[in-house]
Amino acid sequence: MTNKNSQVHKYYKLDGKNITRILKTCSRCGKGVFMSKHNNRHTCGKCSLTEFY
Ligand SMILES: [Zn+2]
Repeated sequence: MTNKNSQVHKYYKLDGKNITRILKTCSRCGKGVFMSKHNNRHTCGKCSLTEFY
């Protein structure tokens, strides 16, 4: 549970000069905690919050 920074680059998409955030931020953990994308839901790896869409 200590690799906070190693995969940050996967969560952003470089589009010209702009960096677009492509993953949702966890509404429970707040900034800096991203939710992983699945078929029909996002799941927070930290608090296990699941959001369907
Ligand atoms: Zn969370």
